[in-house]
Amino acid sequence: MERILITGAAGFLGSHLCDRFIKEGMHVIAMDNLITGDLDNIKHLFPLENFEFHNHDITNFVHVSGTVDYILHFASPASPIDYLKIPIQTLKVGALGTHNLLGLAKEKKARILIASTSEIYGDPLVHPQTEAYYGNVNTIGPRGVYDEAKRFQESITMAYHRFHGVDTRIIRIFNTYGPRMRLNDGRVIPAFMGQALRGEDLTVFGEGLQTRSFCYVDDQVEGIYRLLMSDYNLPVNIGNPNEITILDFAKEIIKLTNSDQKIIFKPLPKDDPLQRQPDISLAKKLFNWEPKVDREQGMATTYDYFKGLSEEELYKSEHKNFMSYIKK
Ligand code: NAD
Ligand code: UDP
Repeated sequence: MERILITGAAGFLGSHLCDRFIKEGMHVIAMDNLITGDLDNIKHLFPLENFEFHNHDITNFVHVSGTVDYILHFASPASPIDYLKIPIQTLKVGALGTHNLLGLAKEKKARILIASTSEIYGDPLVHPQTEAYYGNVNTIGPRGVYDEAKRFQESITMAYHRFHGVDTRIIRIFNTYGPRMRLNDGRVIPAFMGQALRGEDLTVFGEGLQTRSFCYVDDQVEGIYRLLMSDYNLPVNIGNPNEITILDFAKEIIKLTNSDQKIIFKPLPKDDPLQRQPDISLAKKLFNWEPKVDREQGMATTYDYFKGLSEEELYKSEHKNFMSYIKK
């Protein structure tokens, strides 16, 4: 049986990847320190013989016994609110954590896929963003801790590929959503969902004219799978090119949730990218990938998930482990 290590396994994307690779018949070694993740996302896998979980901070040396065929490196805070609260952990997991995993990949002769992000394009001056664009990042701004960690992550991955011959893949993920996002992580979809369910006004930042392009999680997981199984080492964008302004998106949410919430405007956070849309022609050409789930369908499923959360979850304002980490 092939064995795959997934870091960030208790998080949103990581937990869906655990499900997918269990379905593919692999032995899944899940690793997470639960700083923004939750064991509830993977507890259904615990009884399986081909699943194991390790509570480990990957900024420390990573040991895995036995063979490892694949590594998916998804550990990192991913929401702007999260990485503002834990900036140093964010830099460390992108830099030290990635270094540890590349070392492990080299040792085990494993293929490793690194989760990068559209954030490496910063506030892009090229639209839509192709992989050839180098980006426009404010290194010292509040988002710099995430963006620069991810840019370093790409550099060190290419260095391990070129210098040590490690079999690497780099995915640039654009805004992805779906069930198991944390309601209080501050990202726009859980934020709007929580507000609609609690009967609060929807908070649009700035004038809401900034755009995003939202990809449903099943499409993203399929893109990750196809890239991993391809033989392409340079970065590939995976996302849904269907672009929308945040203001129009807020109106869609009001319609979807059938609520009569008002929209209120709050200041635009510093360096919030004004536009974002992936050019996915490379993924189409390389492994015939394109998204299948449209926003209406994906958002309806996501809303069903959030509606099913308990009252306690709905009103919890903070991740349960956050404060203990911040004090460290
Ligand atoms: P998430 O916060 O739900 O998951 C991240 C997981 O990583 C959490 O379970 C967290 O506990 C774990 N983690 C963080 N630091 C760790 C450490 N030092 N050691 C071990 N585990 C650690 O976020 P997500 O949306 O699932 O994002 C997963 C990955 O995908 C991240 O690398 C993120 O940068 C990337 N990504 C996500 C999106 C998106 O739209 N969801 C977009 C671009 C990139
Ligand atoms: N946003 C918003 N209201 C919120 C949360 C976010 O208007 O309550 C905006 C945010 O300013 C950004 C967009 O929604 O322009 C997407 O934000 P998110 O945090 O989901 O991710 P980003 O794409 O900025 O990393």
